[in-house]
Amino acid sequence: MNIQEYYIGLNFPEGLRRLESLAYNLWWTYNNSAKDMFKMINPDLWRDSQHNPIEVIQSLSEHDLEELERDQVFLSRLDAVWHEYIDYIQNPKWFESKNNNKNLSNFQVAYFSAEYGIHESIQSYAGGLGILSGDHCKSASDLGIPFIAVGMLYRNGYFHQYLNSDGWQQESYPYNEFMKMPISRVRDENGDEVYVKVEAPGREIFVKLWQVDMGFVRFILLDTDIDMNSKEDRAITGKLYDGDMGMRIKQEIILGIGGLRALSKIGVLPTVFHINEGHPAFALIERVRTLMVENNFLLDEAVEFVKKTTVFTTHTPVPAGFDVFSPEEMDNNLKPVLKDSPLGVNDIMHFGRFYPDNPKEPFSMAVCGIKLSAFRNGVSKLHGTVSRNIFADLWPGLDNSFVPIDYVTNGVHLPTWIADELKALYNRYLGENWYIKPYHFEVWDNVDDIPDLELFEAKQTQKVRLVSFVRAKIRSSIKARGGSHNEILKANEILNSNVLTLGFARRFATYKRAYMLFSDIKRLKDILNNTEMPVQIVIAGKAHPKDTEGKEIIKKIYHIARRAEFRDKIAFVEDYDIAAAKYIIRGVDVWINTPRRPMEASGTSGMKVAANGGLNFSIMDGWWVEGYNGYNGWTIGSGEEYSDNQYQDYVEAQEIYDKLEHDIVPAFYERDKAGLPRQWISMMKASLKEVCVNFNTTRMVKEYYENYYVKLYEMHDRYSANNFKELKEFIAWRNDLRNRWNEIRINECYLNVDKPFLGEKAELVANVYTNGIKPENIAVYAIMEFNPGTTSFTNPVFKELEVVETDENSGISIFKKSFNLKCSGKLKLVFAAFPNHDFVVNKFENNLIAWG
Ligand SMILES: *Cc1c(COP(=O)(O)O)cnc(C)c1O
Repeated sequence: MNIQEYYIGLNFPEGLRRLESLAYNLWWTYNNSAKDMFKMINPDLWRDSQHNPIEVIQSLSEHDLEELERDQVFLSRLDAVWHEYIDYIQNPKWFESKNNNKNLSNFQVAYFSAEYGIHESIQSYAGGLGILSGDHCKSASDLGIPFIAVGMLYRNGYFHQYLNSDGWQQESYPYNEFMKMPISRVRDENGDEVYVKVEAPGREIFVKLWQVDMGFVRFILLDTDIDMNSKEDRAITGKLYDGDMGMRIKQEIILGIGGLRALSKIGVLPTVFHINEGHPAFALIERVRTLMVENNFLLDEAVEFVKKTTVFTTHTPVPAGFDVFSPEEMDNNLKPVLKDSPLGVNDIMHFGRFYPDNPKEPFSMAVCGIKLSAFRNGVSKLHGTVSRNIFADLWPGLDNSFVPIDYVTNGVHLPTWIADELKALYNRYLGENWYIKPYHFEVWDNVDDIPDLELFEAKQTQKVRLVSFVRAKIRSSIKARGGSHNEILKANEILNSNVLTLGFARRFATYKRAYMLFSDIKRLKDILNNTEMPVQIVIAGKAHPKDTEGKEIIKKIYHIARRAEFRDKIAFVEDYDIAAAKYIIRGVDVWINTPRRPMEASGTSGMKVAANGGLNFSIMDGWWVEGYNGYNGWTIGSGEEYSDNQYQDYVEAQEIYDKLEHDIVPAFYERDKAGLPRQWISMMKASLKEVCVNFNTTRMVKEYYENYYVKLYEMHDRYSANNFKELKEFIAWRNDLRNRWNEIRINECYLNVDKPFLGEKAELVANVYTNGIKPENIAVYAIMEFNPGTTSFTNPVFKELEVVETDENSGISIFKKSFNLKCSGKLKLVFAAFPNHDFVVNKFENNLIAWG
């Protein structure tokens, strides 16, 4: 039997055409009026389709359309939403103010990521990394930055979780009906579908291109599930993070190499590349290859150009978290791609290795990302430090604190995550600029003007919603497991919206230690069942399909939640996804986060909680190290790291119970005559202010723009001018310098002070033998830190010295710099010389350093 499928397109009457345009631009995912309008068409289908407007409008019969066209209430809503959309598109954006002072006409960021979490109706994400990419793109659109995102269109995406009657996680994969998603085929000028090809052993893999629009940002999504490919190749864009390394390398080749070819196929010429985590790093190899093949670049010219136009972001806190591929896998899978090019598999192995000459070392995608980028960053201040340690071996002999990996702390896209009632409150008391001009952070100064009662009530509404969401979820889980009618009825008694609610929802990776809260059942029981001050817990999260340990933890918690004394107080919500996350993060009072420091690179769920008036109670790890300010939540420990895990778990669990009993629970239940917990509400305000100002993706994307994108763009501009003349000159200059560098000596260097006291003048002096290198091509620095820690540097300042005299005969130059002693105490100081050139964007990039 051969069942055929045809797609019958929509044919909207003139008056409703705008409805279709709105449904296909994901701007609606964070606009309340747009969502309300789609819901109004068919509330049941809106809910059942996971809030998918395409399914809603596709369900409309000719008769429905005629009715809608006559429905004045609906039409006026549509009109209002349309105008809001047009305002969004037409209002001047932040980027335009930048464009006024600089020529940014070719500015174009290409952002590569393996997953995007945009909305619950598009299942193309697994967790935090995807949500972050989605939020990044939303803010890039809000800021008006020319930005295109490249990813994969997964046929099955990530799994749905359900538990069997023993609490053991089961997985089922959805089948994504692309025609029912707010995506469209990319077509060329003749209206034909667009494909690219990627060479593979003995065959070519065809990749079909899809497109998603979100505000100004376009996504190009890659799909191999098409007739032209074999069954095996069709599965490449099937599941996210599943399968063995053999599958993983194929996926990453399609993402990186197919993704780059897709951009050139549709005529997009990026000037800045942002590689998000290691998965898409093959895009950089493909860039090197095309520069060599199409522009006749030499290898080091191609590498230089690729580096100086790339920023690489790492999200991983442990070396074991990176994808690595064996030399055999690399050889087998990449040889066909590199065929007929001057680039060999051996050349590219160097990019992915810590020790290039070790033939056994596998290829690390993250190392490749680091080596082929000029800027690299971790995703929180602490994670920056952790990343410098992980990659330190790439800069042999360099103190870890100097390893050129910086950080940009993550954020969340506020309009996506803030609940409707709170948005209305912020509109009323802060003005709509928190949303329309999200870079006007000062609006949040007015948070204190929000009346306590209104804030508390808006929060209360979220809790009521959470409780009814949890009950409905649990009812349907019981039904699916074949539970009795009585059991289903009892589900309506789970949780109580007047009770202090703790939340814990995240992946059940072992390092997140979900079991900690449940490690002392006796204490937990006392806290939850306190009759005057009761407490309840909502918990959710998936374990990776292969993570048996994570599944054991879920099972254990599931059984605890079923005990008589916890039955209505602990609710495990199955299938944590964006939709569930929205209810949970908005509804809980306190968010508990128990990672084993420093394993949480950033974490973003706690930010979403805070933006909705919840409070964080967390280990000092990830973003919370920067986010905690003493009065906006609570900490577990103060940043200790332990060698004995069991002992650590015990100590930290006890602290959780102690703080709940003594601080958190009493603070929530301490009410004044009006029935309000004033102290608690003031913490809510402190918390949402801190997060909304500092931990949003507008701030984050601006930082990427200012620290990296705009600098890379300028490099692109200068290098590509005059047929890459300056790039080639720079390479020649650097080669000459390399040959002479070994003989450079800082003979003498010191701090010259008459009176070593605060406020006095001091002078830095270095006497350098330059081995024939012009002194202006050498940058001499004093690297200093006042009152440093015991080991090396933590926060060094670089002071550049100026050349004051040069003796041609001896080849010696004297460098000096005077400054005022602005601190007292111990001063740590080291002198170093680096190559100096406009095109050196990072002192350490060439591994050429002469220490004093
Ligand atoms: C925000 C979010 C995450 C990331 O949360 P963490 O803080 O990194 O644990 C994961 N999944 C979903 C569905 C989210 O909304």
